[in-house]
Amino acid sequence: MNYTVKQIAAITSAQIIGDENIVLKNIAFDSRIIYSTKNTAFIAVNTKKNSGEKFIEAAIDKGINVIISEHQYPQFENITWIIVGNSIDFLQKLAGYHFENSHLKSIGITGSNGKTILKEWLYQCLWNEFSTVKSPKSFNSQIGLPLSLLQINDSHELGIFEVGISKPDEMEKLENIFHPQIGLLTHIGTAHAANFQSEEALIDEKIKLFKESEVIIYNGDNDLVDKKIKEIYSSKKLISYGFKKENNVYIKGNISADENIIVQYFDEEIIFPAHQRDEATLTNASALITVLKELGIDNKKIIEKINALKSVEMRLEAIEGSKNNIVINDSFNLDLDSLKTALQFLNEYNKPKRSLVLTDIVGVKSDSKQLYEEVSELVNEQKFDFVFLIGSEITQFSELFKSKTFTFINTQELIESKYLTDIENQIILLKGARKFEIEKLKDILELRKHDTVLEVNLNAILHNINYHKSLLKTGTKMMAMVKANAYGLGSYEISEFLQHHHIDYLGVAYADEGVELRKKGITTPIVVMNPEQHSYEAVIEYNLEPEIYSFRVLELFNEAVQKSGYDHKYPIHIKLETGMHRLGFKGFELDQLNETLKDKNLKVQSILTHLSSSDLPDEKEFTLNQFKTFEKNSSYLIEKLGYQPIRHILNSSGITSYTEHQYDMVRIGIGMLGESPNPEIQKQLQSCVSFKTVISQISLIENGESVGYSRKYKTDHLTKIATLPVGYADGIPRLIGNLIGNVGINKTLAPIVGNICMDMMMINVDDISNVKEGDIVTIFNAKPSLKEFAAYCKTITYEVLTSISPRVKRIYIKD
Ligand SMILES: *Cc1c(COP(=O)(O)O)cnc(C)c1O
Repeated sequence: MNYTVKQIAAITSAQIIGDENIVLKNIAFDSRIIYSTKNTAFIAVNTKKNSGEKFIEAAIDKGINVIISEHQYPQFENITWIIVGNSIDFLQKLAGYHFENSHLKSIGITGSNGKTILKEWLYQCLWNEFSTVKSPKSFNSQIGLPLSLLQINDSHELGIFEVGISKPDEMEKLENIFHPQIGLLTHIGTAHAANFQSEEALIDEKIKLFKESEVIIYNGDNDLVDKKIKEIYSSKKLISYGFKKENNVYIKGNISADENIIVQYFDEEIIFPAHQRDEATLTNASALITVLKELGIDNKKIIEKINALKSVEMRLEAIEGSKNNIVINDSFNLDLDSLKTALQFLNEYNKPKRSLVLTDIVGVKSDSKQLYEEVSELVNEQKFDFVFLIGSEITQFSELFKSKTFTFINTQELIESKYLTDIENQIILLKGARKFEIEKLKDILELRKHDTVLEVNLNAILHNINYHKSLLKTGTKMMAMVKANAYGLGSYEISEFLQHHHIDYLGVAYADEGVELRKKGITTPIVVMNPEQHSYEAVIEYNLEPEIYSFRVLELFNEAVQKSGYDHKYPIHIKLETGMHRLGFKGFELDQLNETLKDKNLKVQSILTHLSSSDLPDEKEFTLNQFKTFEKNSSYLIEKLGYQPIRHILNSSGITSYTEHQYDMVRIGIGMLGESPNPEIQKQLQSCVSFKTVISQISLIENGESVGYSRKYKTDHLTKIATLPVGYADGIPRLIGNLIGNVGINKTLAPIVGNICMDMMMINVDDISNVKEGDIVTIFNAKPSLKEFAAYCKTITYEVLTSISPRVKRIYIKD
C-alpha cells in the first residue's frame, strides 16, 4: 500500500491528530517484530481478549511515529494519531478499499486443513512466473487477512491469500473485503469447528468466499461439499479434485507402491514421482496441479515445479553457530517480501550485534536500481555491523549500504576470504537466492558439527496446536505441557515459541524446570505439577504456581509462603483424585480442604484432574466416570470456596475424544507434537520431530563374515553394510538391533543388523541403490514414523522422545 495519513482517514472515516501528510506503506501490529519504522504505522488492535494499546509504548520506543488506535495517549509526544472507532473494522475497511483498487489476479484459499501448505506450495511454484504476493505465515483471520491484503502494491501481478474462519458470519465480513477470482477450497474436516451447529453450516459459511469467483477449485471427496458447491454455484466454472474417481481431477492407482503418482486431469494423465505419499499430501498435490493448469502452466513445467518442491527447504532455520553466534539460514528464494519476513524473524532475537549475507535478487521482474535501493533502505534500518554482498548485480550497488560492506562475486569467494570465521557473538542472517548455494556458509558457521540431529519443526507444533484449538470453544484456555524438557525436544525453545504465540499456561513437572524457563526469560504462567518439598522457596521466588495434591503439601507450601513474606494470595492449583490413583484430594477430603484453605494466604487458581485412559475407546465408561466424579467434586469445592477457579481435565487425546468436557482450559502434550492414537485425527496433524544421522562408512562384507559385537549377524552372500554414528547412548534402545528395527534411506527401509553399539550401529543397505557415505538416514520422521519406531522399541512415542540423549543436537525450524 501507499497512502498518506489523510487518504487513510478519508477511506476509513478516521480522525487525525498530527501530520496528515505522512506517507504510509506498512502497518505493523506486533511491536516485537517491527523490522522497519520507515513509512510504518503501528496499529493497536483490540480484540475481546487483548488490547494492543498496551504495546503502543514499545512501538514508539522502536521509533514508530504514527499510531492507529481507538484511544489517544497524550503522554507520548510528536506522534501522529489515527483515531478509529474500532481497530478491526478499520483494518478491514482499509484493506477492502485497497484490494478493490488493486489490479492483480487473486487466489483465495479456505477450508479446514491445508490452507497454509497449499499457499506456500503455490507461491514456490509461481513466484518466478508472476510478481506474487502472499499471506505471511498463516495470516488468515479477521485481522490477518486485511494485513495480508495491505501488502499488495502496484508491481504485483498475482496474490495468494488464505482465509480462515472459526465462527458463523465471519466469512461474510471477509468476502466483503476480498473476492478472489480463483477460489480454492481445501479439505473440510468432519470434526466440525465447535462454533458451528453442523458440518453443513460450516460448509455454507466457508463457501461464501466464492460469491464473486470465476472458478472454484474444490476438494470433492466430501459429498456434502460437492453437493453444496454444485447447488449454489451452478453457473460458475467448477473443478473438483481428490481421490474419488467422480472428481474432475483425481489420484489414480496404488499410492502405497513405490511408483510414480498418476493424476488424472480431465482426460489427460499427469505423472510425477512423489516423496511423501500420504493422503493429505497427495490431495494437496492434486489441488496444486489444478490451480497451476488453471493459470496456464504447461505439464512439463508443472512436473518440474513439483519435483523442485520436495528438494526445496523453504523455511527459515535458526542454528546455534560456533563462537556464540546464532545463524539464521534462509537460502531458498530471495525477493523483497521474503527479505522482510527474514528481517522480522531476526528481530525476534535480541543480540546487539548482527551481520547479513545477501545475494543478487534473481528472477524478480523489476527495475534493478529501484529494487536495490529499496533493499538497501530496509537493510540500513537494521543497523548491521557487517554486510556481505554476493553476486554481480547487487555488488554494483554496494555504496547504497551504510554498514561496513564487503563484496564478492560468488559464495566461494566469501568462504575463502575467511571474514565469516572471525565473527563472534552475533546473529548472522544468510539470505540468498537458491543458485548462490549460501547454505554452504551455514555448514561453516554451524557449531560443533554433529551428524546426528533431532530436528524440531516449530511450524508443525503451531499447526497442531491450532488444530486442537479449532475443536474447542473460542474462550477455552490452553496449557502446554513442557515437562521433561518438553518431551525431550527442548523446553526453553518450545516454551519461547509458544509464549510468542500466546499460550495461556505452561506445565512442568518439577520446580527446576520452571526455574530454568524463568531464568531464560519466559514470563507465561507456569504450573509445577509435582513440586518437591525442598523446592518451595524456588517456586515462590520464581513466581511458579504449584499443584497441591495433599494436606501435607498444602501445609508445607503455606509455611513457605508465610516465610517468604509474600503479601498477596499465592495462586495454587488443586488436584482432585478421580480414578487415576496417583495424586490428588479425594471426595471425602473436600470439606476439610475448604476449612484448611480458609485462613490461608492462598488462592485456588484452578482445579484439575487427569484422565488415565482418554486414548482408549474401550475405557470410555471409566473415563465418563472420571468426568462425573470431577464435575461433582469440583462443583462442591467451588461452592464451598465461594469463588470460581478455572477447571481443566483434558489432555491431548481427551481434547479430540471428549471435547464436550473441555471446561475452561485443556492441557495439550503429545498432540502438539503431532501424535494421536486416532488415525483420523493423526491425518490432520503434522509430524514435528525428525531424528536424523548420516552414513559414516559403507563396506562390502564377504559371504560368511560377521558384523558387530558378539558376531550376532552373519552374511550369507556378499552384503553391503553401512555404519551409522548413533547408538544406544543416543537413545536408540539396544533391543531394536538384530533385524527388529529399521531406518529410512531414500524412502526405503533398511534393517538394523547385529547388536547396536554404544555410539554406532550397522544397517543392511543391499536393497538401496545409489547409497553412498554421507547420505542422510532417517531414524524416525516419515519413514519410519515415530509411531513405527516406538513399535520397534515396544513402547509408546512419549518414551521414545524423552529417551533421546541430551548429546543429540536439537535444531529448530520455523518459517
Ligand atoms: C503430561 C500431562 C498432560 C499431557 O498429556 P498428553 O497425553 O501428552 O496430552 C496433561 N496433564 C497432565 C497432568 C500431565 O502430566
